[in-house]
Amino acid sequence: MTKKAFQDNPLDTPVQFIKGVGPRLATVFASRDIRTIRDLLYFFPRKYEDRSKLALVKDLVEGSSASLKLTVHQAYMRPLRGRFSKLLEVKAFDQDKQWISLKWFRTYKGFEQKFEPGIKIIATGAVKVFGSIREMVHPDIQFDLEEELHVGRIVPIYTEIDGIPTKTLRKILDTALSLALPSIKEELPVPALRKHGLPGIAHAIREVHFPPVIPGGQTTQGEEAFADFKSPAHQRLIYEEFFKFEWHILSKRLNLEKEKGHPLDSARLKASLQAHLKALPFTLTRGQTEALEAIGGDLCRPHPMNRLLQGDVGAGKTAVAFLSALGVMDQGFQAALMAPTEILAEQHYMNLKRLYGEQVPVKLLVGKTTTTERRVIQELLDTGGAALLIGTHALIEDPVKFRNLGLVIIDEQHRFGVDQRRKLREKSVIQPHTLVMTATPIPRTLALTAYGDLEVSVIRERPPGRTPIKTRLIRPAEHRKMIEVITHELNSGRQAYFIFPLVNDSEEESFKHLKSAVSAAETLANEVFPQFRVGLLHGQLSPSEKAAVMERFRKNEVQILVSTTVVEVGVDVPNATIMVIEHPERFGLSQLHQLRGRIGRGQYASTCFLKTDRPEHIPTPERLEVMCETEDGFRIAEADLELRGPGEFLGTRQSGALPFKIASLVRDQDWLIKARDDVMQILKADPSLKHPENRPFKAYLETSGKLESAHLKTS
Ligand code: ADP
Ligand code: MG
Repeated sequence: MTKKAFQDNPLDTPVQFIKGVGPRLATVFASRDIRTIRDLLYFFPRKYEDRSKLALVKDLVEGSSASLKLTVHQAYMRPLRGRFSKLLEVKAFDQDKQWISLKWFRTYKGFEQKFEPGIKIIATGAVKVFGSIREMVHPDIQFDLEEELHVGRIVPIYTEIDGIPTKTLRKILDTALSLALPSIKEELPVPALRKHGLPGIAHAIREVHFPPVIPGGQTTQGEEAFADFKSPAHQRLIYEEFFKFEWHILSKRLNLEKEKGHPLDSARLKASLQAHLKALPFTLTRGQTEALEAIGGDLCRPHPMNRLLQGDVGAGKTAVAFLSALGVMDQGFQAALMAPTEILAEQHYMNLKRLYGEQVPVKLLVGKTTTTERRVIQELLDTGGAALLIGTHALIEDPVKFRNLGLVIIDEQHRFGVDQRRKLREKSVIQPHTLVMTATPIPRTLALTAYGDLEVSVIRERPPGRTPIKTRLIRPAEHRKMIEVITHELNSGRQAYFIFPLVNDSEEESFKHLKSAVSAAETLANEVFPQFRVGLLHGQLSPSEKAAVMERFRKNEVQILVSTTVVEVGVDVPNATIMVIEHPERFGLSQLHQLRGRIGRGQYASTCFLKTDRPEHIPTPERLEVMCETEDGFRIAEADLELRGPGEFLGTRQSGALPFKIASLVRDQDWLIKARDDVMQILKADPSLKHPENRPFKAYLETSGKLESAHLKTS
């Protein structure tokens, strides 16, 4: 190791200068983005193994894991026939003179010579019992009993890095800690830590890697806390991650609020909303009214709105979006509404036409829009007068330019990436207001993190006059009964969806047993429901074919729509009251909930059948039970978050952008709220971090914090 190897700050020293690392291991570490000692210290254990208690040979049971303190009697190599050429066997005994045999089928040169007769070792591994014989195969051996890293304590287990044995990793970490721990600076405001009784950073990092050895071996309490990531050291690091994250995201929101927008006139907005409300064939629900009021408030403020409108499928978000657009247009601005599919864009377009007829200059821009029509659209926008353009991503792909785009609305926003949304906003010369909508209810913790930079409105209730959707799990034996129920329903004039996970039958082993939309459509049309007309919708159809099928279903020219999940988003056919979902196990909870939202949209009672192949005696998977129990999208979302983690919710929005290494949005919700409250308080009391106790955090923001903040892709 050369002197120059150490940077001014040991934390910035490349890992290869740690004793025992070298260029080869450094390359391996680099493949895991571990380059400096700092990276290494923040490579936290995945779990822990309690080796604080030493076992006795007589107490060992088959299959258990144990640590034993042993005296070596003898070690010998035995030639073997077959796959392994040699076997190393070590005979040893414990304090009660109980024998055990340790075996290795693969060893390195000279390993057997370490087992000198009479020396003491600690062996850790899984136990095998054959009658009176006990053995361990490939146990972990500690020779130097002075060395305390690997045994006699709670030891850290790291995510495996190819080519670096756990013990080596532990040693490297131990060295790294002794080199750099004193250089770690406290960055968080000390009063906040004190308030929650959290330890300082150096202490936390040390303990999270090497939980303290408590004299007398009584570590029961500590042991569980570490296993559950609930030790003070863990809590401190979790709090820190949330604190930094919330600071980045909340200060971004504050900055956005400083940007100049173009406020609407509040009195005029009220008047025009009132007029448009009168023209609606229904009155708004309380949730819709509140959302509209919040949006109205935003539109009249001097900086751009950035609001997320959450509401279950069928909650009536579209009406709120239309009214907002009309309000903006009445004051001379243009508006754009982007939907993820052509079906949806067309549906929005037709709904608006139906509601407001020719009063509103509304245009549709989708993939198949003709060049002539595109020219007409551009001419309309060029006049600079009010206009609403509804479309798909064609809106951003087309060179169409707005003159004074005042409001951007994004429907089913999780279907779009951050960049796509920004592109649409950039079509405007002025800074437009933005309203993003989602029908995927987002658990509170996620809303606070992934969407922490947005204001949030929630429409919880659904429009009145809807009957609840019954959801039932259908086992093979109940299949016939289900068909009877559906036939009855279709005979009374209603319509049905049949949803399949695949388009076509698949030969692939893991898909072979699955029914597909294409073959099921045939069977349903010819054998099961010959008296009704069956339509087929899936992602391999062209956009115009899809639109044609949907149109026929909407007009009740086909009674049964067989489909894959393309029907998931936003489709509105109030006369459809039945949904059969085949192989519901294949879908996520939120997806099932979205699918189910296609029914229960009119005044008729609706039923969703989750048709499983599992026979009666196999219990219902927990997830499907949740579906049968509740229609509350937020409850389902919470369950989904717990079962599958946050990735599923974020979609293309900042996938992988949640930067948590140790914090979990499910397990550590409380800490998220605490950190958020603390950050808000500091942002209010000392926004430029002038107070001495906040200065270390300011220093962080000016160094590594800058990069971390830039990496968060939001809005
Ligand atoms: P979302 O986009 O939230 O899934 P939509 O806006 O498509 O829901 O609304 C679903 C249906 O409910 C539409 O047919 C719409 O016309 C109707 N609707 C919306 N708001 C109300 C209301 N307040 N009362 C009655 N019907 C409503
Ligand atoms: Mg919708």
